[in-house]
Amino acid sequence: MNTIFIPHLLKAPKRTLYWDFKQSFRDLPTLTPVRGELWVTHRGNFLEVRAKAETIVTLTCDRCLNQYNQRLMLDDSEIILLDSKANLPGIPGEEKEVNLEDMEEALSPQGHFEPESWIYEQLCLTLPVQQNCGEDCPGAGLSNDDEKEDLAAQGADIKVDARWSALADLKKQLGANGN
Ligand SMILES: [Zn+2]
Repeated sequence: MNTIFIPHLLKAPKRTLYWDFKQSFRDLPTLTPVRGELWVTHRGNFLEVRAKAETIVTLTCDRCLNQYNQRLMLDDSEIILLDSKANLPGIPGEEKEVNLEDMEEALSPQGHFEPESWIYEQLCLTLPVQQNCGEDCPGAGLSNDDEKEDLAAQGADIKVDARWSALADLKKQLGANGN
C-alpha cells in the first residue's frame, strides 16, 4: 500500500481508493499476515477511512510470560479532517489556539495519507490492555488474588529458577559420571 497524495483522491472514481491487502508489519508480530480491505474517500473537507482486517497476533501473557496467539478483528472507520493549517509549523509570534485532539486527526489537503501507518495504529488500538493466555494459564492456579499477583510479579524469576535447578541436576549427573 503506497502513500496517497491526498489531491489524487479527487481524480479517483467516486473519489475513493480501495485496497484488498495482505500485509505484515515490522513492529507487530503476527502469525499470519494482516488480511483485509481498506477504503479511503475524499469528502471535500475531510477523508473518510474505513477498514476491515483480520490477523492472528502473538502476545506475551502478563502472568506466566508464555507466548500465545490471539485473533484480532478490525472493523472501523475514522474521519480525518483536512485542514490547510495542519502539519504546518506555527508562525513565530503568532498565537494560535491549538486543540491537540483535533490536530492529531487533521491532515493538510495538500498532504499525504499513509494507509499502512493508519492500519497499524488501528490494530494496536484493538490489542488487549491486559494480556492473558487463557483459563489454563499456569500463573492463575492459586485461589488467593494477592498470591496470584505475587506469582505474576515473580513469573520471570520462577522460570529462571527452573532452569537453574535443571542445570544443577545436570551438574550432579556429570559429577557422578566423573567419579
Ligand atoms: Zn499465562
